[in-house]
Amino acid sequence: MREYQDDLVSVNSARLRALGVIRPEAASAVVRFGEGEDALVREVRIWHRQFRNGRGISLFLCPACGGKAQLLKLYDGRLRCRKCLMRSGVQFRIAYGTPAERLARAKRIEALKAKLSGPPLRLKPLAGLRVARRRELELSLTRALIRQRERMLEAKT
Ligand SMILES: [Zn+2]
Repeated sequence: MREYQDDLVSVNSARLRALGVIRPEAASAVVRFGEGEDALVREVRIWHRQFRNGRGISLFLCPACGGKAQLLKLYDGRLRCRKCLMRSGVQFRIAYGTPAERLARAKRIEALKAKLSGPPLRLKPLAGLRVARRRELELSLTRALIRQRERMLEAKT
């Protein structure tokens, strides 16, 4: 079975900082991956930046490559950042699929955009129907764009 980065157990430094697990002055944090008996507990080095407005961010330092990362994932019993995982050939779902499948997704979005471009509809007989159809198309496009953005965000974090 193929594994995707999207499906791996992961921890998010921003979330852990908000929860107080990562303290802004601490050089490391004890992080739990997964739940219950199978959980893996590890001490992970943390990088911090404090902003002038008093806020700050904390990122993990990847145990494998030393790079800064907001997410660490558990793969093969080890903690890795997404870059390390990419190097190991673990892909994101968005990047996956044949080129034809990726092209089909992109084409569908383009087709919806094309249908929606053009002059605004005037109110004529049948215009009501067309307005309804246009709303449907707009909704389809919005949904397709949201799904695409979600995949991109997942791939980025
Ligand atoms: Zn790494």
